[in-house]
Amino acid sequence: MSGTQLSRQQRRKVQRDALDRGAKVMARGLGPELGEAEALGVALMVHERLTDAARPERAGEAAEMIETLLEKTLATGVRGVDLGCRKGCNYCCSALVTCSAPEIFRVAAWLRQNATTAAARIDLSKIAVEAARRHDLTREQMFIERAPCPLLVEGMCGVYPVRPIPCRSLFSMSSEACRLALEENSGEVPIVVGAMQKGEMARTLLLAAVSAAGLSDRGIELTAGVMAVIDKPDAEARWLAGENVFEGVMGGERSPNSRRAQDHIAKLAGALLA
Ligand code: SF4
Ligand code: SF4
Repeated sequence: MSGTQLSRQQRRKVQRDALDRGAKVMARGLGPELGEAEALGVALMVHERLTDAARPERAGEAAEMIETLLEKTLATGVRGVDLGCRKGCNYCCSALVTCSAPEIFRVAAWLRQNATTAAARIDLSKIAVEAARRHDLTREQMFIERAPCPLLVEGMCGVYPVRPIPCRSLFSMSSEACRLALEENSGEVPIVVGAMQKGEMARTLLLAAVSAAGLSDRGIELTAGVMAVIDKPDAEARWLAGENVFEGVMGGERSPNSRRAQDHIAKLAGALLA
């Protein structure tokens, strides 16, 4: 499918069809295989939201759309799997979390809105100290150090409703294996590969829409990213206007396969939207 070879009318029709397919995927979740037209449809839906100038928090809302899709997908995707994951189990929360700008804005907006309720239990000054400390570490140092995520509150995720995609898609069949990996740096963690792949697919769709909208798709370390924007309510608008509001925050590369898939969908979307 090449949008550039189609007339304007044909492009509109392909776009409408793709949006229909995208809406179906949004309603039922990601299946075992995601066809090109379906992926394009979801990316176009997210792109529509990202470019809706009437919505000031549209970046965070775009993340919410994809996170909702992922939740729907995983609700059936891990059904029947004997998981080690339980409330309060958090060995995995010492992993380095890299996510997209829309995911960061969603967490930051939620923290601002909930400052007097749930998030009151999250000590933002503690997060700021940790973010500043992480600022000077390399990615390798952070991998070795495995410091707990400062968004943990009494052993549980303090931003659970808005946690980013990597946190949503990591499941293990053994809590003990996670403990050994963290505390003794030994053994293999029997992660649920399918769930991880769905998370990667969801991120691909989100970032394809971000790229197609001409926005920065770079990965951002969660803690430092949140602290870079938490006290700047206009940061989302500035990022949407093309400003680098995450300057100096550690980034992260996607795998070559994910990058290729993202670029392909973004290119298809870009050609249809041209
Ligand atoms: S991935 Fe591992 S550490 Fe994290 S909740 Fe599941 S079992 Fe616990
Ligand atoms: S955001 Fe929540 S789930 Fe993710 S690493 Fe931090 S505490 Fe854990």
